[in-house]
Amino acid sequence: MSGRAFLAAAALALSGCSYTGKAIDAHAHLESGSAPGRIQPKVSGRPDVLLQEMNRSGVDQAVLLVVPPGADLAAARELHDQVAALLRANPGRFIAIGAVQPSDGEPGLRELERIASLGYRGVKLSPSKLELQTPEVQAFVARATALKLVIYIEGWWPGAAHETGKLALAFPNGRFVLTHMGGIRFDDVLVFRLLELYPFYPRNVWFDLSAVAPLYVDSPYAAQLRFVCRSVGTDRVLFGSDFPLTGLDAALSAVRRLGFTRQEEQAILHDNAEALFR
Ligand SMILES: [Zn+2]
Repeated sequence: MSGRAFLAAAALALSGCSYTGKAIDAHAHLESGSAPGRIQPKVSGRPDVLLQEMNRSGVDQAVLLVVPPGADLAAARELHDQVAALLRANPGRFIAIGAVQPSDGEPGLRELERIASLGYRGVKLSPSKLELQTPEVQAFVARATALKLVIYIEGWWPGAAHETGKLALAFPNGRFVLTHMGGIRFDDVLVFRLLELYPFYPRNVWFDLSAVAPLYVDSPYAAQLRFVCRSVGTDRVLFGSDFPLTGLDAALSAVRRLGFTRQEEQAILHDNAEALFR
């Protein structure tokens, strides 16, 4: 084999390799009591179990999305304090996302300020129905954006991609994560491919692969999911586990088996989340 042919073969072999460096999980939860009717987790959602899994799987940091048992600001406040204590006890391991809803009104906006001062980096927007173009939601997004909080939006709702697109255009300084890449409607996010044709689209929406990657990796839709990721830009796609609903190893394996290049994997598993939360 000539030197040049050898180098080409080596480059090809390398591009086929998986990224094996540190990962950042952009979508995880801790268990917060087992309310009746809730999905039962695969593993225990205790913080020590998550840390063990992170250490074993090479996940350096995990984004913790607080999920209160109901639309109850007092319960959310209590959980916010518990997670803040966990952050202090494990410096550099967790990134916290609070749970405040636009329907919480002015007390909710004050809670946004409080969690920002506690070191929270974002808030998850999951009202009981998908109505994102209301004065309450606009006030909420304006305040969260002023506080530089990343806004996670529940992706399972029908229409979530379009509604998130409208918010992203209305708040060009806001940063949004559409969870589960829209879930079973993952091809809805191709609307962002169209938005990129407009020079004023700020590319301020990211997509996490929690739930959706394990759901489709072993199906004929895997190639479509990979195509959609590349269409919106693999610099906007984040690894997420939805722990404890999926273990970290299973979630990592699903993303690694979607057939991305090593460079794309590094972006999805680590670099994109690092840049978003830097
Ligand atoms: Zn989740």
